[in-house]
Amino acid sequence: MTDISKNIIRVSEQITTAARLHHRDPSSIKLVAVSKTKPADMIRQASASGLTHIGESFVQESVEKIAVLKDLDLCWHFIGPIQSNKTRQIAENFHWVHSVGSLKVARRLSNQRPVDLAPLNLCVQVNISGEASKSGVSPTDLSPLVEQILLLPRLRLRGLMSIPAPTEGIHSQREPFRKISDLLAETKLRFGTSVDDMQHLSMGMSADLEAAIAEGATLLRVGTAIFGRRDPVAKH
Ligand SMILES: *Cc1c(COP(=O)(O)O)cnc(C)c1O
Repeated sequence: MTDISKNIIRVSEQITTAARLHHRDPSSIKLVAVSKTKPADMIRQASASGLTHIGESFVQESVEKIAVLKDLDLCWHFIGPIQSNKTRQIAENFHWVHSVGSLKVARRLSNQRPVDLAPLNLCVQVNISGEASKSGVSPTDLSPLVEQILLLPRLRLRGLMSIPAPTEGIHSQREPFRKISDLLAETKLRFGTSVDDMQHLSMGMSADLEAAIAEGATLLRVGTAIFGRRDPVAKH
């Protein structure tokens, strides 16, 4: 067995254990394997071990991997910061985008989504820790943004995403995730059936996945625990 397949088994067990502990149905939680900076061959190994959801953060690098791996039946998630001049490549190559924090980017993605593809699945990124460096919409600006995104024809609004400031310990890790979960509940109350497709919480990474599961995560974005540590000097 390769390291990657062992890692996938271990992470899947962690997910099942955490789900049981927190009264969640494990089948409601998708593992998105985050392969940024890692070679296509490692994604091929993850696919051979049964993973289908792949997360990437850098447009150029990911478009190359998507092309090399087009023989596999993978679902590609874009989770990185979005520059306006890269939206076309995201709209043309990905199934999901998790990191949309502005109407400008959402409009471009809708306009640029090819007509022969299904609408692009989208999560709005919320900046829950209020750090100036992190992208995402502030909680107060979320509703106006949702209202506008719902008008864009080539997007399918699926949920919220967040990357809280890293903290230690499950209690402090759960706090920001609970806020995101509450924001999704508020959004559903406010918008009713027009957000029926909005069921997802993209939250939790290698270091805080139990906390995220406890607060309702449905899309876990896990990199290091599957593919190993990333080269810290990699230019990304
Ligand atoms: C890199 C990355 C991850 C994965 O982080 P790990 O700590 O390696 O699991 C998850 N989400 C986003 C947005 C990332 O950029």
